[in-house]
Amino acid sequence: MIISLEELKKLLINNNLIDEITFKEIHKESQRLNINILDLLFSQRLLDKDYYANILSDYLKVKRINLKQITIPKNILRLIPEKIVLDKKIIPFKEENGILHLAMINPNDYETINFIANLTHKKIEPYLVLEDEFQFGLTFYQKLYQEEYEDILKNEISQIGNMEITEEIQNISAAKIIDNLLSYAVGLNTSDIHIEIFYEYSLIRFRIDGILKEIMKLPKKIHSSLIARIKILANLQIDEHFRPQDGRFKTKLGDFEFDIRVSIIPTIYGEKAVLRLLASTFKPSALSDLGLNSFHEELIKKAIKKSYGMIISTGPTGSGKTTTLYTIIQLLNSSEVNICTIEDPIEYELPRVNQMQVNPKINLSFAEGLRALLRQDPNIIMVGEIRDYETADIAVQSALTGHLILTTLHTNDAISSIPRLLDLKIPKYLVASTLSVVIAQRLVRKICLNCIYSTEIKNYQIETIKEQLSKDGLSEKEINEYPITKYLFKGKGCELCSYSGYRGRTGIFEIFFMDDELIDYLARKEFNLVEFKSILKRKNYKTMFQDGLEKLTVGIASLEEILRVIRE
Ligand SMILES: [Zn+2]
Repeated sequence: MIISLEELKKLLINNNLIDEITFKEIHKESQRLNINILDLLFSQRLLDKDYYANILSDYLKVKRINLKQITIPKNILRLIPEKIVLDKKIIPFKEENGILHLAMINPNDYETINFIANLTHKKIEPYLVLEDEFQFGLTFYQKLYQEEYEDILKNEISQIGNMEITEEIQNISAAKIIDNLLSYAVGLNTSDIHIEIFYEYSLIRFRIDGILKEIMKLPKKIHSSLIARIKILANLQIDEHFRPQDGRFKTKLGDFEFDIRVSIIPTIYGEKAVLRLLASTFKPSALSDLGLNSFHEELIKKAIKKSYGMIISTGPTGSGKTTTLYTIIQLLNSSEVNICTIEDPIEYELPRVNQMQVNPKINLSFAEGLRALLRQDPNIIMVGEIRDYETADIAVQSALTGHLILTTLHTNDAISSIPRLLDLKIPKYLVASTLSVVIAQRLVRKICLNCIYSTEIKNYQIETIKEQLSKDGLSEKEINEYPITKYLFKGKGCELCSYSGYRGRTGIFEIFFMDDELIDYLARKEFNLVEFKSILKRKNYKTMFQDGLEKLTVGIASLEEILRVIRE
């Protein structure tokens, strides 16, 4: 926020927009949910965004611009590179008489104003812009590049389609298409590119925010050149067409370095390639950025204060569990500790962490790797996944002997991690003495802030929520007393979110920390999961769905989306 909490409070109270008591309550709630107080005020309809922007700009004594209401010319956009625009949270939108008009999240940031003045050799006139309007402004940049890439791609494709071309030209064309596809994909925030072949055409699809989207169809005849180009980049065998191959390569796209992981398999009409795009180094983020509320954050912090024990992250593939572990590692990463990992595969490079990759060709398994790491004088070890007795056994033993172990298990919810470890033949007393914290999670798509709207909740939606709460094991009394939101939020669909109504993702969590009471109960002979769960409930334990309901209430997630990922 560009003004302090105290200033915000004064501003709102002096303008008769809120009273002191409500402000206090909302502030407390925003801290609990780990979200910006303004977002909560807007979503709860306690404050009108546009009105707020106007009084804020008066207070800051600067003009205000709403980027949603204008179109920015391309030559103005090109005055400042996108990386600087993202870094400094500014967008140039107009030039008049040698003065550059600059939309700024913080229009009182004189350092940035001077920096841009030097960069562009122009006088700067700063304007206040709100966060979501700034985000909308970024689409002008996206479009700038998208149009360029689309033009190049279309041009290449029509050339291939129209004429009989030599293999050489086809290869040059394929290289151009792959280059532009990668840049195009980065602009759209794509995680995976699928290049597949069917009877009539070759198809390109992008996965964006977890959902696959058809991007374009290509003439069949270019397909094998595309695959060959990818094989060259990833150092794979070009003449091998019948066996799956894996590889990777690094590339610079725009201002950023990317690691591209390649998988190729033979299908009926030819080979299919999937390219996973990963920023080449892990962008450190705070636990709250993952979508954790302050209660959950505290549980994790308790576990990482200890120098031993097991931190387990669970959920299906693509639920964000590795990102959560990487974030925890970043919090632990200091010069006083030795951190090593055995992963399959290594997803991001972490500075000052010794990362090792599982390799079945030389029998380097999780268990084998873990054994080797233990001879490396480690403090903290991340084991990509525990799926067999051997790995589980070594992990538990090392957690017991003063190492902090981070790992993932394939279970649907947090509590199931206990029976899962018992299934792996780990004695119950060992699970009790090593298990520290268990995090289960799913990723939900966030509602696009640009086209968000709210409606009153309908009876059948309340019934759906109650049904799910009952499935989660809440009693009838608990369900009837459950605070259910009055409003539901959705995205209408707009240019910014490619008309999906969603933009970006966040996690929903269920987390428990093994305190003395739980350790004691787990070690007992009469241990059972039902009783375990009721002890947890007394400790404020919430299921993923309940966590999702909080994100529903404040307009971060939609009911459909939460139900979709819960039922996955
Ligand atoms: Zn939208």
